[in-house]
Amino acid sequence: MKTPHALDTIIGYHAHIYFKDAAERAVAETLRAQIGERFRVQLGRWHDRLVGPHARPMYQVAFEVDQFAAFVPWLMINRAGLTILVHPDTRHPRQDHLVNALWFGEVLPILNVEQLPVSTVGEPDETITPNTTPTLAA
Ligand code: ZN
Repeated sequence: MKTPHALDTIIGYHAHIYFKDAAERAVAETLRAQIGERFRVQLGRWHDRLVGPHARPMYQVAFEVDQFAAFVPWLMINRAGLTILVHPDTRHPRQDHLVNALWFGEVLPILNVEQLPVSTVGEPDETITPNTTPTLAA
């Protein structure tokens, strides 16, 4: 049998918050503000046009492993109907998006798969720099 991956294979996470129209974008704006008030995360910029493997406009929230246990359950109960992809960073982007992904709501297709590197082992790791200053308890 194949040896399972060790938990410390995961060096961070992304949550991609999708929106399909202006109404959902407004919901996503509210959610973004609520996240920033409650969690030490890195809020990425808005992508109103499709980018990379993502099948809908979205913004990314990057977060450290130690935020998962609070942030992900909070998203589960506060996503307000939005579709969200949570994926780990194991230095294997293709597998992280296609195999290791956690979806809330719909499961969207992953686009441009061939542009996702199979492995980034040996390359500099993505740096997560929290740009939020939580003032509220989750
Ligand atoms: Zn991502």
